Amino acid sequence: MDTLNLTKSMDLNFIEQVSRESGQNPSLCYQCGNCTAGCPYTHYFDYPVSQIMRLLQAGQRNIILTSKAIWLCATCETCTTRCPCEIDVAMIMDTLRIIARRENKVSEKDIKLFYDSFLDSMKEHGRLFEMGTLLAYNLKSGHYFADADLGPKVLEKGKIHFFPKNIKGKDQVAKIFTRFQEKAKKHG
Ligand code: SF4
Ligand code: SF4
Repeated sequence: MDTLNLTKSMDLNFIEQVSRESGQNPSLCYQCGNCTAGCPYTHYFDYPVSQIMRLLQAGQRNIILTSKAIWLCATCETCTTRCPCEIDVAMIMDTLRIIARRENKVSEKDIKLFYDSFLDSMKEHGRLFEMGTLLAYNLKSGHYFADADLGPKVLEKGKIHFFPKNIKGKDQVAKIFTRFQEKAKKHG
């Protein structure tokens, strides 16, 4: 029978890195499964969130950082709310995405692209400009006509607009992004 040798690929530095960057203690997890039981996206994950936690305890850097689960997570925080050990599991998932980006191991490139388009819009307008974000995402991803059928309906209902509405303090918001990017560069 084939068995998976997790000892060989165990990376203790990874456990320490995720703990430090998330401010959480993954070793508290005792695999009760409450997080997975409440996770609305678990059917789409390649590894349910409780397995991600177990893999993290086993220092499985590569399996986790190349998983789809960390990108399909919607940050709904159900896992965090349900964890009896008060681990902020959603924060751990967020931290794993950040590390995967930094190490250029993004498995779901379209999701990363959507995040980037969303954040570019926030930086530019101080709030989300839905039409601009969708167009930028569709162009960059090559999914030129994605959700095009929904356009007329949401336009008619006034849910999205052709032109952006900037907030008053948009420059201050842009400064937050710049500060963050400078800090990220410094810490490599
Ligand atoms: S935050 Fe992510 S992992 Fe946690 S329950 Fe929601 S979708 Fe699932
Ligand atoms: S709910 Fe908490 S203790 Fe239970 S499996 Fe998930 S992370 Fe571990």
